[in-house]
Amino acid sequence: MTTPLLQLDRSGLYCAAGDFHIDPWQPVKRALITHAHSDHFARDCGSYLVAAEGATVFRIRLGADALIETLPYGQPISINGVTVSFHPSGHVLGSAQIRVEHRGEVWVAAGDYKRDPDPTCAPFEPIRCHTFITEATFALPIYRWADPQKVIGTINEWWRRNAASGKTSLLFSYAFGKAQRLIASVDPRIGPIFTHGAVERINDAYRQSGVKLPKTHYLVRSEKPDLRRALVIAPVSARDTAWTRRFNQVSTGYVSGWMRIRGTRRRRAVDRGFVLSDHADWEDLLLTIKETGAERIYVTHGYVPVLTRWLNEHGYNAYGLQTHYESGEGEAAEVGEVEAAEVVTEEAESNS
Ligand SMILES: [Zn+2]
Ligand SMILES: [Zn+2]
Repeated sequence: MTTPLLQLDRSGLYCAAGDFHIDPWQPVKRALITHAHSDHFARDCGSYLVAAEGATVFRIRLGADALIETLPYGQPISINGVTVSFHPSGHVLGSAQIRVEHRGEVWVAAGDYKRDPDPTCAPFEPIRCHTFITEATFALPIYRWADPQKVIGTINEWWRRNAASGKTSLLFSYAFGKAQRLIASVDPRIGPIFTHGAVERINDAYRQSGVKLPKTHYLVRSEKPDLRRALVIAPVSARDTAWTRRFNQVSTGYVSGWMRIRGTRRRRAVDRGFVLSDHADWEDLLLTIKETGAERIYVTHGYVPVLTRWLNEHGYNAYGLQTHYESGEGEAAEVGEVEAAEVVTEEAESNS
């Protein structure tokens, strides 16, 4: 039996033929990174290879000292005789599926991906391969996303109603990816958009990369602007801090795929939940796996046993890949937060 092209070692997914890792969780000599959420890279690697389209964000996330090499989407290079290329995964700016080819065998490590349109990043591109490594963050049949345009419509409506009654609309979302997608999608004619520093830093990187975002105002703690018609976008970590306690008349919202579920243990309230995810839902996971034409599927990051079992029952050879990332960052890490939130969404109500 020959060595598989990619296999787990103690640092991450390793390609022995090319002598590199993909999305390692421990420092390695050479790391290829699917995207800049912290559950997909380790600090202090010798070098990083990333999609050129996400270069500005990777610089912020990996640090000023990191040695970062970039490769534009679709352009193949050879690493020790292994052909490597990056292809859009539609998840966040610069997110990539990594295609690895050696002696006629093709593997694709998809990282996190979604199929719904997103004005802030290139759309997912299906890649034919023999072996496909898929994420499983929302790999349960209950996860089916509504049309993102409709969800944005309900957010606009909520904001408009709050603005009309002189209330600030305070929207919590993940600061890298989701926040920019929201800012690019909402209707900026309703009122001014203010941001928390964690969001604004990434906004800058997106703008430098050529992503069009409407004007946003960085909300400095010491200033007291008129926020009566404002939409304020902040990371979940800012909830219940002095930064958010400053708002007087306020309606709070939370945007996440996890808004689809209703937690039973609820402690803290937000007024509204909006179901919008940067990951594929159940149907899109299955569609994507089918489109790759792969016979062998490795499942990682999320509901691994559920998806693995379904695939094995439907003619695939599927295996779970246990990484050390199970509680990482981004949407994947938010489930605990959401369980603690008193959230019943209209969307979830009508779907269940
Ligand atoms: Zn991610
Ligand atoms: Zn992830």
